[in-house]
Amino acid sequence: VAFLRIWLLLLSFVLVAPGSRSQGARSLQKCHSYLQTEFKYGEHYLYFDWLQFQWHLKELQTLYPKFLSIETIGYAGQYPLYKVKTTGATSRQRRLRVLVTAGTHGTEPVGVASALDLLERYGRDKSFRDKVELVVFPALNPWGLSRFSRRNQQGVDINRSFLDGQESENSRLLMKDLSGESFDLALDLHGARSFYEHFLIRGAADGGLAENSIRAISKKDRLDSETGEYPGSFGGYTLFNEGVSESSNMGTMKSYAFDQLRIPYAYTFEYPGKVNPRQTHRLNFRLVMSMINHLL
Ligand SMILES: [Zn+2]
Repeated sequence: VAFLRIWLLLLSFVLVAPGSRSQGARSLQKCHSYLQTEFKYGEHYLYFDWLQFQWHLKELQTLYPKFLSIETIGYAGQYPLYKVKTTGATSRQRRLRVLVTAGTHGTEPVGVASALDLLERYGRDKSFRDKVELVVFPALNPWGLSRFSRRNQQGVDINRSFLDGQESENSRLLMKDLSGESFDLALDLHGARSFYEHFLIRGAADGGLAENSIRAISKKDRLDSETGEYPGSFGGYTLFNEGVSESSNMGTMKSYAFDQLRIPYAYTFEYPGKVNPRQTHRLNFRLVMSMINHLL
């Protein structure tokens, strides 16, 4: 009998111990169980895919029902396009209004994870809620995210389709939803498959915001120009400082945010696709928070 009692005690400890952790910790643990030490780019989908995204989004809503409101702005290739608005702030001070888009390319899941991290931070941190209001489209290309495809269900690169007459199903829904809205900051979260370092693409000269924000990560994790001099270039981008660039691509979400919505600070964030997602996810989120904090 004594042996049975001890055995039951041990069993109950094993069963109860995981439950004593917060749901958030379990959620992260589940995410991280997909991690391995070495990742090839094509294996990034193991880190985070459409099903895991939906699981995490539901988990966030369960954790923070007062602070997050999830709606569907329409369907692209029969997949819902989710919009998450933050609610429940009690402060009366003017808050920084931030637009976040992620998962435009289905091969860049770390950006999606960072968008969810930001919502998690909002739910958990009252002082953050008092200063920031978020509108987040965490997975703009669900078809691509479920298949590890850069393009959408129409074979279109969504991040070239924010142009009149060249809209994709996805960009059309987003532009319709955002029409007439105003924001202080726009972050479009991406990844660059052949890169080893992080960089930001700005809409225009920004008074040093990108340069100051990217200092939140160490120099070795910021993209250098080919010659090490500035202005310089790397892979078709013009670099103004380590990790701060502009691009001439047309029809991007960032240029739509900057040119059409007139958001004064609009950026594409690029995390390095050559690096283990665990490491790059942590740095990517640090960068996102750094830029928001620089405007508070
Ligand atoms: Zn991208």
